[in-house]
Amino acid sequence: MIKSWPSLSELRDQVQSGNVSAVSLVEKSIAAIENKKQYQAIISVNKENAINTAKMIDKKISNGDKVGRLAGIPFIVKDNFLTTNLMTTAASNMLKDFKAPYQATAINLLEKEGAIMVAKANLDAFAHGASTENSDFMVTKNPFDETRVPGGSSGGSAVAVILGMAPFALGTDTGGSIRMPASFCGVVGYKPSYGLVSRSGVVAMASSLDVVGPLTSNVNDASLILDIISGIDSLDSTTIVRDTESYDLQLINKMTTIKDLKIGILTDFLKNGVDSKIKQNVFNNVTRLKSMGAQIVDISIPSIALSLPAYYIICPAEISSNLSRYDGLRYGYHTNKTKNLEEYYSSSRSYGFGKEAKRRIMIGTYVLSSGYYDAYYKKAQQVRTKLINEINGAFKQVDFIVGPTTPILPFKIGEKTMDPLQMYLSDLMTVLANLVGIPAISLPSKMINNLPVGFQVMAPQKSDKKLLEFAKLIEDKIK
Ligand code: GLN
Repeated sequence: MIKSWPSLSELRDQVQSGNVSAVSLVEKSIAAIENKKQYQAIISVNKENAINTAKMIDKKISNGDKVGRLAGIPFIVKDNFLTTNLMTTAASNMLKDFKAPYQATAINLLEKEGAIMVAKANLDAFAHGASTENSDFMVTKNPFDETRVPGGSSGGSAVAVILGMAPFALGTDTGGSIRMPASFCGVVGYKPSYGLVSRSGVVAMASSLDVVGPLTSNVNDASLILDIISGIDSLDSTTIVRDTESYDLQLINKMTTIKDLKIGILTDFLKNGVDSKIKQNVFNNVTRLKSMGAQIVDISIPSIALSLPAYYIICPAEISSNLSRYDGLRYGYHTNKTKNLEEYYSSSRSYGFGKEAKRRIMIGTYVLSSGYYDAYYKKAQQVRTKLINEINGAFKQVDFIVGPTTPILPFKIGEKTMDPLQMYLSDLMTVLANLVGIPAISLPSKMINNLPVGFQVMAPQKSDKKLLEFAKLIEDKIK
């Protein structure tokens, strides 16, 4: 289904040699967006600006001026990244007419390299969800089966990449929102170490968990994008120092063999709640790794079963705090005809927030309230600390941990919307990486029942480069 775009380095060569114009790439992208409207992946299109920028780049190239590493290459961003050309809605009624005063750092860095933002993609409103059904605007459809969800919350970005609307897209991952839709749509989804990529200009969901990352059609492209968007940003005090060496796998001496690597697998944890075919696929991949010389180690993270419950306390707690800024006064939706301030707040927030945002605000406020703080929020933070210690212990034994990205196959639209708990369970395999801040990648692995299934690899904090190197080997050698 993909492969309608060459790799980013091939595109770069084509554009910079003058064989392919930036304008033609942007036109190709926009044509794909227009022809594939039925998937409802895109919220807004940056048509005129994108074409004008492409014309400028073509001119520079024909003048022989120096251009950036992504000159003329189109990309799409999830609509929770602030942009100065297009509205930033976070797929919510609250922000449906919001024009941001500044732009996200990640986008600025890509634009500095000549990349051209062509459109903004659908998501679960405020990134709350695992299916893109919580968008206040429309439900994005899975291209492999239109009656199924594309995963979430970066569902629009994943669909955009698999359908060739752009060679890459940006998403955000708070509890799996890059990896899960990547798995459901058959693309590569990369969640960097916490703090490696600036979140300045990204609508905050849960600030101690949120990261920005790419969705691409191959690992090399993910590594190039990471190289461009990572590093300290004075606008985001949580950013961490990046590696001095490039992350771009095409520029470095990378790992060439799997031999002698120690690969961890959480056999016990996979026993319950994971689809048997998905489990089988993981074991098949592990067998392949073993036959290629890797040492397979059965590891245990004793508190792992508590990661999902801890996530669904910490995450709503931070959401309730982050969403308090939408009071209708400063920005976002507001109503005019109210008698007093309290009514003003409540009517603005009642309309502006959808069901899921309200559910999380209520849970979050509850677990942070003085009577329940110790019983819920504090306990969840203690679990988080335990998980960090346990994962650090595990990474003393192994280099990487592998497993499924999701416990289930892409599910039917509407199947889980009435049962939030079932929806939350689909995050079983992804929230751990966010709680402990480590990098993780979902690689397209297999088709099961004609639906894509991902394979997840996690690595120690800040070992993004190693993780990408290993992912590249898996991509090349395990099909
Ligand atoms: N599905 C998870 C949730 O609903 C993760 C969301 C995300 O990563 N943005 O919280």
